[in-house]
Amino acid sequence: MAYCPNCKIEYREGYEKCADCGETLVEELHEEHFSQDKDFALVFTGTMRYEAEMIKANLEGGEIETHIISQKDHNFPGAGGMSVIKVYVRKEHAAEAAQYVRSLREEGKLESEVENGEE
Ligand SMILES: [Zn+2]
Repeated sequence: MAYCPNCKIEYREGYEKCADCGETLVEELHEEHFSQDKDFALVFTGTMRYEAEMIKANLEGGEIETHIISQKDHNFPGAGGMSVIKVYVRKEHAAEAAQYVRSLREEGKLESEVENGEE
């Protein structure tokens, strides 16, 4: 799999450049591709992959483009190999997505959330 770091579009094997913007594709999208992109907003940070998958499934059910990024976080005390999972959506959907995440949190379904992804 390859991705355009600008458009966040997924390409099949064999493509090297983005058909839209001409950018060289990368193997994986990393957090910096989103955190440095003003078109995207962080809506959830946690440690449980299934929670991020649940958010993604629901948001995409509402036709909101959703990206899950996971990264090893070496700042977790004593938790070797624990990953931080982040969910990004496009800015125009940030309010709606944040609202949904908030409703899940209020229902007690987001046990692993580690910081507030709103604002
Ligand atoms: Zn592109």
